[in-house]
Amino acid sequence: MNYFENTIKDLKEKNQYRFDFMDISSEQTKSATIKNTEMLLFGSNNYLNLSSDNRLKEASIKATKKYGVGAGGSRLTTGSYDIITELEKELASFKGYESALVFTSGYTANLGVISAICNKEWVIFCDKNNHASIYDACLLSGAKLVRYKTCDVNDLEKKIKKFKSKNNIIITDAVFSMQGNLAPLKEIAEIAKEYDIYTLVDDAHGFGVLGELGRGSTNQLNVKNIDIIIGTLSKAAGSVGGYVVSNKTIIDFIRNKARSFIYTTALPPSTYAVSLEAIELIKESNDKRKHLKEICKYFIKELKKLNLNVKDTDTSIIALVYGDELSTLKVSATLLKEGIYVPAIRPPTVKRGESMLRFTLTCEHNYKDINKVLDVLKSLKYE
Ligand SMILES: *Cc1c(COP(=O)(O)O)cnc(C)c1O
Repeated sequence: MNYFENTIKDLKEKNQYRFDFMDISSEQTKSATIKNTEMLLFGSNNYLNLSSDNRLKEASIKATKKYGVGAGGSRLTTGSYDIITELEKELASFKGYESALVFTSGYTANLGVISAICNKEWVIFCDKNNHASIYDACLLSGAKLVRYKTCDVNDLEKKIKKFKSKNNIIITDAVFSMQGNLAPLKEIAEIAKEYDIYTLVDDAHGFGVLGELGRGSTNQLNVKNIDIIIGTLSKAAGSVGGYVVSNKTIIDFIRNKARSFIYTTALPPSTYAVSLEAIELIKESNDKRKHLKEICKYFIKELKKLNLNVKDTDTSIIALVYGDELSTLKVSATLLKEGIYVPAIRPPTVKRGESMLRFTLTCEHNYKDINKVLDVLKSLKYE
């Protein structure tokens, strides 16, 4: 057998093999049609249900008619449009920063920004639970990588004292994408100030969901002095794209240096029109955010009553940890039979022994939907 077959066999033996795609053949709201069956979804990052919003569909159609379907080039050649500049101005203002730059995704934003700024003369202090795109970026940058225990500012400070060099940056997810908890951004910003270290925060899951009008995690925690914030337009904002906000000089530097920005075609112009309108919708979504908070609280309270391994969360990501891959897959399969789709998250996405069902709730879910899940989990418990 060759290398590829062996690797796949190994993944299957460890229950880490990723199954066939769950092809969706409808819109994605809180439910979707998967393989001709209507399924209730509990794994989407479409928190405000904007991916199927009518105003955004209209914005997309209108911009497609005006600009066409493709950008025609990279932003620095023929791929820049007035509407992108408009979106960048809006993002900067919404986030309270001088400047913004839009990337094709959150992944390419992390990759481009971190590898543009850091090189082998830099030390990156990196939260252990950071997103894969941050790790890939660190690796690509060639910087020295120093990982600290997740959210542990004492460990961070200890490592800073030991490894601090001439150029240093602390990088953390604002919301940890698998566990759903917030990083202690205030304390991190204070340490950074004390030791004169740059800070970069990835707020993929906070944007649109947390803070006043959905401005994000730093707003929620009232932290104003993070140097660079990266985010995505592919989650709460409903469509696609990534962004970075910072001061004018740093954004200009990134525009000149970030290879994943320079050497790729811009997104279809319509997507920027959609994101502009999405920010307006995000601002109007206070009721949705309130409802989301309430149903998450309820879900966690009920899961705890069942003595399941769940922690409080600051977001609508709720991690139900089963530990080993097989038990996680079994619960996921049982839910699937009942018409409920929750992805089973396994290594390498999480550490060994921390396999979990990662529930995400959206503003469309209601108490009845949650009770449906709870009934299945209850029946499994007393089997
Ligand atoms: C989803 C995610 C990304 C990637 O964003 P995309 O727009 O999907 O590429 C980056 N960082 C974190 C923390 C994420 O959860």
